[in-house]
Amino acid sequence: MPRDKQTPQKTLRHPADLADHGLVAPTDVAALERVAAQFAVAVTPAMAERIDPTDPDDPVGRQFLPDARELLVTEGELADPIGDEPFTPVKGITHRYHDRVLLKPVHACPVYCRFCFRREMVGPGSDALDAGELDGAIAYIQDNPQIWEVILTGGDPMILSPRRMGDLIARLNDIPHLGLVRIHSRVPVVDPDRINAEMVAALKGTRIPTWVMLHANHWRELGPDQVAAIGRLVDAGIPMLSQSVLLRGLNDDVDTLTRTFRALISARVKPHYLHHGDLAKGTGHFRTSVAAGRALMRQLRGDVSGLCQPTYVLDIPGGHGKVPLTQDYLSPQGEDGIWLVEDPRGSRHSYRG
Ligand SMILES: *Cc1c(COP(=O)(O)O)cnc(C)c1O
Ligand code: SF4
Repeated sequence: MPRDKQTPQKTLRHPADLADHGLVAPTDVAALERVAAQFAVAVTPAMAERIDPTDPDDPVGRQFLPDARELLVTEGELADPIGDEPFTPVKGITHRYHDRVLLKPVHACPVYCRFCFRREMVGPGSDALDAGELDGAIAYIQDNPQIWEVILTGGDPMILSPRRMGDLIARLNDIPHLGLVRIHSRVPVVDPDRINAEMVAALKGTRIPTWVMLHANHWRELGPDQVAAIGRLVDAGIPMLSQSVLLRGLNDDVDTLTRTFRALISARVKPHYLHHGDLAKGTGHFRTSVAAGRALMRQLRGDVSGLCQPTYVLDIPGGHGKVPLTQDYLSPQGEDGIWLVEDPRGSRHSYRG
């Protein structure tokens, strides 16, 4: 049913507000309230503006508008799908890999993605770290000299004010063994106005670089405002990478992935990871098969610029880490040092090396 869409002035957080702005059908509101009671809802004006409400499969809408299918929990889905919990030495830190930690200063996000892998942990009701807890998390990093990189995530750390972001980046820059701060964020896409001069200045490290890893899944998320916000970061010397999630019916075809990765490269963002959908509760309608993901990556490898190739990865449930799922192009061919290499079209070639 076509609806009249109005661009909202502020973030929409309730199914009734979404209906008022023509983004969901009024007859669906009651059912969607049940979804919203379980998993937080937020659609920013910048994303509402990019949704075509006449298209029930709109790739931006499907990422942010609640869906009754989220109440279906399928076998194997988990509250902590990537197993962060056992690797939490102090509140706000996840230390799973030797040289890097996640630091989660906030648990809220400007939008709530319907497929979020941390959907049981994020939400407006979940607290940010208080000052003492943040001190404790920073002390843990100071006390562990093998940590080379701090990844700010959450939640979305770019919802911090520029002042608080600047303080945090400065404190991390003061830890001598750190070599890099990385920020995982969706803000340049979902709330591009936050990337103002103050935020850009806050992000720039004094001693070590800050890299920004943008979460984006579809070229339709990237309009002129988004490209401009990314440009402000990159122009300031902040390198950008992206991570995307492979989502059924949304970006699981070669044309969409090609267009999405090209749009990112054109905006000066290097596609880094394409995540296989995690086993978060109520996200079965978004997951593809691993075989489908591998076939897509193989086709991309042959047809599209090497810059547009992210690594297709799985975060192994239980906290065992991320590994590439991409096919192995090489197999041993009998004697030592002789290999069979497969080209992107599937022909095999012998190689000595
Ligand atoms: C994903 C993740 C990282 C970052 O891994 P990279 O492969 O370096 O991107 C670090 N720590 C944890 C716990 C993670 O889940
Ligand atoms: S921005 Fe990231 S953490 Fe926040 S809801 Fe989306 S996927 Fe989850």
